[in-house]
Amino acid sequence: MIDLRSDTVTQPCSEMRKVMSAAPTGDDVYGEDPTVNSLESYAAKITNKEAGLFVTSGTQSNLVAILSHCQRGHEYITGSEAHTYLYEGGGAAVLGGIQPSIIPFNSAGELPLELVKAQIKPDDYHYAISRLVCLENTQAGKVLSPEYLSKYSSMATKHGLKRHLDGARIFNAAIKLEIDVAHICRYFDTVSICLSKGLGAPMGSILVGDLKTIRIARRWRKMLGGGLRQAGIVASAGLYALENNILRLKKDHEKAEILATALQELDIKISEKPQTNMVILDPEVDTTSLRNYLAKKMIRIAGNRLVIHKDINDEDIEKIVSACSEYRNDY
Ligand SMILES: *Cc1c(COP(=O)(O)O)cnc(C)c1O
Repeated sequence: MIDLRSDTVTQPCSEMRKVMSAAPTGDDVYGEDPTVNSLESYAAKITNKEAGLFVTSGTQSNLVAILSHCQRGHEYITGSEAHTYLYEGGGAAVLGGIQPSIIPFNSAGELPLELVKAQIKPDDYHYAISRLVCLENTQAGKVLSPEYLSKYSSMATKHGLKRHLDGARIFNAAIKLEIDVAHICRYFDTVSICLSKGLGAPMGSILVGDLKTIRIARRWRKMLGGGLRQAGIVASAGLYALENNILRLKKDHEKAEILATALQELDIKISEKPQTNMVILDPEVDTTSLRNYLAKKMIRIAGNRLVIHKDINDEDIEKIVSACSEYRNDY
């Protein structure tokens, strides 16, 4: 089976499993798991933040971040297709009494600053208090430019807004831009990073930020049931991923580009040239018939995207292209 539904489907490699089985552990709720502590401090170091927090998932990471920045009656501004708004069960509203205030992402995956500004509520008790603005990077595989981030950050700071990044795939962005991940993180108060996507760990995310915010986030994590005990077993996989699997993301990007070019040659339209590991199909493409056809060839896709990850090799790309070519002949 060739699985292109998401980069979450990656399997831990044998080296990673070896590291997991040998990981020193302790009780992380007491702060005594040496491997979790190493992961948290390593993540903080490479992002140039004061502290890190190992959490069970990206959803939990974003949620504890929003809960830590905002209070009941506050609002956070984000994209109408943002994961923090659309795909997290409304957690901030359900559990925090924090209202999302949404605007559409533009074609670059940015929140247009004029729209963000227009969304900030005046100091008037009719309104919720605008407190936070959340970006996503990469956003549907697109990379936010440092120029945009710099402007975004000044604007947010000027209006007293906290800045959170859902950086589920921040390393894809950093690799694409050939910059240090810390150069992206400097524009944010908190950044959430998924270890379980392209980086290939079986589970977990890391939230990084200043000490004070991470301390508050740790309390929320416990309340949400995310205080784990001998979590070093899984944290070691995350540490392995950060130490070994970042640079190889470039290979995923190259494969995505090869696949996108081949699809275009077959006249299967893509929305635009992929910037990272996602090939997004044009809305014109009948994704249902393509999906059903590919499924018979043991190739799985979901929605309108084909996601490349470490368990897709060159031979798989060839198989996908030839299956798409047969699809073209049959339809
Ligand atoms: C996957 C993802 C998350 C959430 O991660 P989970 O570990 O699945 O909860 C958050 N934001 C974005 C953009 C994602 O792709």
